[in-house]
Amino acid sequence: MIKRRRVAARILAVALCFVALPALAASPGLALIGVDELKAWLSYIASDELQGRETYSAGLGLAAGYIQEHLRAWGANPVGDDGTYLQVVRVLGVKTTSRSSVTVKVGNDSRTFKDGEGVTFPRNSGGRRTLTVDRVEFAGYGLDVPAVNHVDFRGKDVKGAAVVWLGVNGPRSVDSTTYRRLLTGRNRYATDQMQAAGSIGPVLPQTSGRGAGSTQDQAAGRGRGGAVNPDFTTAQRLDQQIPPAVSASDEFFAYLFNRAPVLYDELKRKAEARDPLPSFRLAGVTITFNIDMEYEVVRTQLTHNVVAVLEGSDPQLKNTYVAFGAHYDHVGYLDGPPGNGRRPPGRVKSGVEDDRIWNGADDDGSGTVAVMAIARAFALGPRPKRSLLFVWHAGEERGLLGSRYFADYPEVPIANIVAQLNIDMIGRNRDDKATEANTVYLVGSDRISSELHDVNREANRSLPEPLTLDYEMNDPADLEQVYYRSDHYSYAAKGIPIIFFTTGLHDDYHANTDEVSKIEFPKLARIAGLVYETGLRVANLDHPPARDNKGPRAGRGTR
Ligand SMILES: [Zn+2]
Repeated sequence: MIKRRRVAARILAVALCFVALPALAASPGLALIGVDELKAWLSYIASDELQGRETYSAGLGLAAGYIQEHLRAWGANPVGDDGTYLQVVRVLGVKTTSRSSVTVKVGNDSRTFKDGEGVTFPRNSGGRRTLTVDRVEFAGYGLDVPAVNHVDFRGKDVKGAAVVWLGVNGPRSVDSTTYRRLLTGRNRYATDQMQAAGSIGPVLPQTSGRGAGSTQDQAAGRGRGGAVNPDFTTAQRLDQQIPPAVSASDEFFAYLFNRAPVLYDELKRKAEARDPLPSFRLAGVTITFNIDMEYEVVRTQLTHNVVAVLEGSDPQLKNTYVAFGAHYDHVGYLDGPPGNGRRPPGRVKSGVEDDRIWNGADDDGSGTVAVMAIARAFALGPRPKRSLLFVWHAGEERGLLGSRYFADYPEVPIANIVAQLNIDMIGRNRDDKATEANTVYLVGSDRISSELHDVNREANRSLPEPLTLDYEMNDPADLEQVYYRSDHYSYAAKGIPIIFFTTGLHDDYHANTDEVSKIEFPKLARIAGLVYETGLRVANLDHPPARDNKGPRAGRGTR
């Protein structure tokens, strides 16, 4: 059924083109987004000459130079450092000395657990603060997976509360391999999505990989000349307020639950057996998080975001911005055959072992050139009321470094950014399936602003050939947890309404075979057009998209 409808739409669009009816034609600027430019630009951005565009590499510098050249030709305003298009991104390697603690008051008794003695704070816990919470909610496994009918937070309002959860491996109904990302992301889920003030869970086994508070340099970052290894790497301010996310020992939990309706011994036994857990409020319990970290910067690495503005036409509204973004970095190259201690920066496909450059044509060359095309269309076409901000982020592959930096050190006032539209991988079909040819996945569009979600749908309907909008990855239980995994999240974390556009993963994802020859350019152009139309509409609204913060509603199993 879907397929038949799609074919009909295409025939209709073609027919309209031939008789040149302007009725369905979207804005005139849309015609400025063409396949030829996208192809020419991506053929350079994803060429071997750019060495896989690793952050801190000469190849990434060439990409920055290429984007700048175009911005200059189009007359975009350089709003980076000192009147240039470049914003220096400072990536800090940091050593932590902690004097943090958690004090638990149960009735009239209280006990303080120091960091490292019963509780462990993340090495990056933000600035000094004391936070006392007198509503403490035990939320079982602290996990919502509606697909398997396990919903710990059902009917539970934990906004402003401290959430406590147990069970390293989750319940039996939740496969711990399939749902790995959800299980390890439970503290973040409680504070970020459920808006808890803090979260306490058991100690999880060390996970590798990137993401919030990633400490990827712990193992690899041995400095020259015996320099101190950093505890963590960050591009964010060290003094910001981060909701406390603490892991705790048996001793801590035994004390916390000592007057609870169910004691810890029993809860622990059930959690270890992966049996159903109860859920209840810990009456008469108060928790005080005392965050007191001393940070010593032991290393500073430098890279660049590329930043430009096109000024809006309205004298007042031009002080507000619609932001467009993509990451222009990728994972780099390998300086010899794999093995003998050489670790390739991504997957090596069999049969092409001697291709040692990870070109990242789709990831995120596609987004890089799409944002260029959108900038060109706004530069040469009609100008909307609000200004347009374009940021090509560095360091995404190393943990959203460029966007985290920009969100903390914005080149325009962050409060004046009314929406951020992020593009990462829009040049392919998910899993290379032909049935995906018309599909784009949207993530986060309804989470912060329902209005932005509606504007985007309306923009799609206005296109000569509307795309199939799929919200599957917006499901809060999405296995890949895509919402947290590209640059839009750095903006969403500041409360800015966002939409993330992607065509999904495929067999060449992070492999040495993510090449220009595999890009579906007409599809890339159409999605760039959708982002353009969405941004244009937001930029012409007389009010910023309302932030109703209803959370994810469109997703798997919903419409
Ligand atoms: Zn990417």
